[in-house]
Amino acid sequence: MQKINKKLILAVDMHGCPNRCKHCWLGHMPNKNMKKSDDEFIVGFFKPYFNSITYYSWLREPDFTDDYANRWERDNQISINSKPQRFELASFYRLVRDKNYVRFLKSLNVNSVQLTFFGLEKLTDKYVGRTGAFEELLQATEILISNKIAPRWQTFINQENAQEIVELLRLSETLDLRKRCKAFNRDFIFFVHAGSCDGENRKLYDIRINKEDIPKELIAYYNNIDNMYTEAELCSKLKNDNTHFVYHNDKDIVLNISNEFDVYFNFTHMLDNWKIGNLKLNSCEEIIKRILDEDIPALHIARKITVAGLVEKYGDFLSHKIFDSYDYKAYLLNKHIEVMCS
Ligand code: SF4
Repeated sequence: MQKINKKLILAVDMHGCPNRCKHCWLGHMPNKNMKKSDDEFIVGFFKPYFNSITYYSWLREPDFTDDYANRWERDNQISINSKPQRFELASFYRLVRDKNYVRFLKSLNVNSVQLTFFGLEKLTDKYVGRTGAFEELLQATEILISNKIAPRWQTFINQENAQEIVELLRLSETLDLRKRCKAFNRDFIFFVHAGSCDGENRKLYDIRINKEDIPKELIAYYNNIDNMYTEAELCSKLKNDNTHFVYHNDKDIVLNISNEFDVYFNFTHMLDNWKIGNLKLNSCEEIIKRILDEDIPALHIARKITVAGLVEKYGDFLSHKIFDSYDYKAYLLNKHIEVMCS
């Protein structure tokens, strides 16, 4: 059989996540430990079709298993012609509970780790879905800096927490994080964004921040601010756009696999209309054909409506909520799919 000329990347939810963030684009799913040997079954499923397979045993929280060091080794071993990367991601849950974890990160030459905030204590705990999360994030920051790893503070802004994000910025200044990272030649990064509008974050549409309500102190830290628009501006720009917004795999194929063996492209949230199939219930041939044809219910719907059609049906020409163009099209399409399938 001729192999498919694309890299395959598998992200498998083998251990779940300690958090239930209100911005989680994947959507909330129950935690469940998969069997160690499930990795072999999953890689074996795709091996006849791909020359290059990168295997990640996590889809949500990296290293959320006590056996994280062996697991990382195993991910490397079981991958074929392509090794997993770290992406400057780590588990703050583990950082504050396991002294050896930061040493493990150092041994992998991790230089920077992203930590996510939603304001100060009360709001961060509320949006992470866990009491104590804010304190843990601050502790994790200190542990990282003591080990010469730069924390990168990612913040999600909305109408409820905008002022607290300003206070969080002030806190990072009080803690002197910029200077302390400079001392070991790394940059402390603080950035703000509203996130995409899928998964759990989609449920926060009503409190998505208006562009003019972004506090002026945060403008310099807002990701890609020059390409951010109000919903009203986007509706005017896109109302005559007769293209279709259809997700598509270009060079690589990235698949998200749930702890029940359901398989999805990593285009957006993991809901039924986006499901390719199930690795235990469907044959390899069926799954591979659907992957190559990008044959899933949501994309069939996407191919039948233009962006102009989406704007006409669901766009709010009076809304000042902030989006970039790509995320706004994704928001409209997901809205359409919800309506069509309800
Ligand atoms: S955003 Fe990340 S840490 Fe938060 S619930 Fe989702 S997977 Fe877990």
